[in-house]
Amino acid sequence: MKFDSIIIGGGVAGLSCAIRCAEAGLKTAVIAAGQSALHFSSGSVDVLSRLPNGENVGAPFSAFADLKKQSPSHPYSKLGELQCREAINWYQDVMADCGVYLTAQPDEMNHYRVTPMGTFRSTWLSQQTVHQFPHHQLAQGLAEIALVTVDGFRDFQPQLAADNLAKLSAFESVKIKTAAVELPDFDNMQRNPCEFRSIDISRVLRDETKLHAFAKSMIQQVGKADLVVLPAIFGNGDGAATIKLLEGLTGFKICELPTMPPSLLGIRLEEAMKSHYKRLGGLLLAGDEVRKGEFSNGRLMKIFTRNHEDIPLVADHFLLASGSFFSKGLSAQRHAVSEPIFGLDMAQSAHRDHWYQPQFFTPQSHPFMKMGVECNNRLNPTINQQVISNLYCAGAILAHYDPVQEGSGSGVAISTGYFVAQQMITAHQQQQTDTQPKQERTTA
Ligand SMILES: Cc1cc2nc3c(=O)[nH]c(=O)nc-3n(C[C@H](O)[C@H](O)[C@H](O)COP(=O)(O)OP(=O)(O)OC[C@H]3O[C@@H](n4cnc5c(N)ncnc54)[C@H](O)[C@@H]3O)c2cc1C
Repeated sequence: MKFDSIIIGGGVAGLSCAIRCAEAGLKTAVIAAGQSALHFSSGSVDVLSRLPNGENVGAPFSAFADLKKQSPSHPYSKLGELQCREAINWYQDVMADCGVYLTAQPDEMNHYRVTPMGTFRSTWLSQQTVHQFPHHQLAQGLAEIALVTVDGFRDFQPQLAADNLAKLSAFESVKIKTAAVELPDFDNMQRNPCEFRSIDISRVLRDETKLHAFAKSMIQQVGKADLVVLPAIFGNGDGAATIKLLEGLTGFKICELPTMPPSLLGIRLEEAMKSHYKRLGGLLLAGDEVRKGEFSNGRLMKIFTRNHEDIPLVADHFLLASGSFFSKGLSAQRHAVSEPIFGLDMAQSAHRDHWYQPQFFTPQSHPFMKMGVECNNRLNPTINQQVISNLYCAGAILAHYDPVQEGSGSGVAISTGYFVAQQMITAHQQQQTDTQPKQERTTA
């Protein structure tokens, strides 16, 4: 099977690259072994919330110059501010086409989103159903809020969140109340506590009669509130529409917060991207796994997968976006970290004692978080120092950044995926021009 571009990995980085390639008409295939990190994510897009030296960042794009000084090898430093902005704006447009509206604050500042613990995380883009708490005035416009859960749901404990919120000076004069609303059919669902997860609840609330009963119970229990915060328990594809419906039924302004995995806010992004990619004509080989590749003259010629066994998949360009340790894109042995498919050259500390900070909770980055594949400025990796010119890397597999400490996970994944796609598209167009008969070119 021959493609223009093959993408290994179905997370934000791989799918961003795949969508951009498919938009430009490249014959594209994505191979995704399993779930991506989106199933565990908040569904908000972090761009940059902290510099490597620990300094907090209010306006992420304005901090790119400082980031480059502190970390010249950072993926953002390789791409530059303009490329990253272009990529994030493009992603916003693509998601809006899919009905998922991701917005930032108009003043170019990060905003805060509330976590299930009642703490705040800084981020750049959030979905339309997530309340954006402004950096400068967290509780702006809020006199009374209600933290509401479904009675018996274990993945969000409103009292815990309320206690933590109440400790913040910004919430001193805000009345915080909690409620646990009964869900119709709860008894039938509780055969096993593990089954009562956000995704199970979303199936029940898809039924309009049950949603009406839920709304009625909510009105009775909450009374009055400027904002009602619910855990993300509304469907993947139709979640935002269900919340709109619930707002109409109750008269409340409702927002969601991400729960423990499965995180419906993250899954919503992944499903939207996959559907969009398939609508553009892209091929998705879900559940297959790339095992090895064959190289010649500094180029990756073909790859082999578990399901296709000895039938090779051939392409002009390849992207490796197989994630970090979490998704098995990186693998740790006792004294080394490696990239398991191709054995690409890595950036890593020599001795295991230097892989982590002595304290787990520390403002500094744990060095192992910055380990990954070493790439040049075009994001080509090397094997034994030889550049592989038609293979690129994007997302969490890249070295020299820490998505957790910096709050930069999806931002790096989207911008590097998009950056690679742009290079693939340019090379493809160039190749087409070169192979066009000379006479045709002159006439054109
Ligand atoms: C728990 C958690 C929560 C996070 N929350 C946030 C958040 O709220 N906001 C934010 O901006 N960022 C967040 N991040 C960071 C961000 O989600 C990641 O940095 C980003 O999603 C990485 O995307 P990726 O595409 O590079 O990798 P991944 O999402 O890890 O995807 C890798 C893909 O490659 C596939 N794969 C691996 N090996 C193979 C193989 N051999 N063959 C085929 N496929 C393969 C995997 O199955 C998977 O589909 C979070 C990360 C984690 C781990």
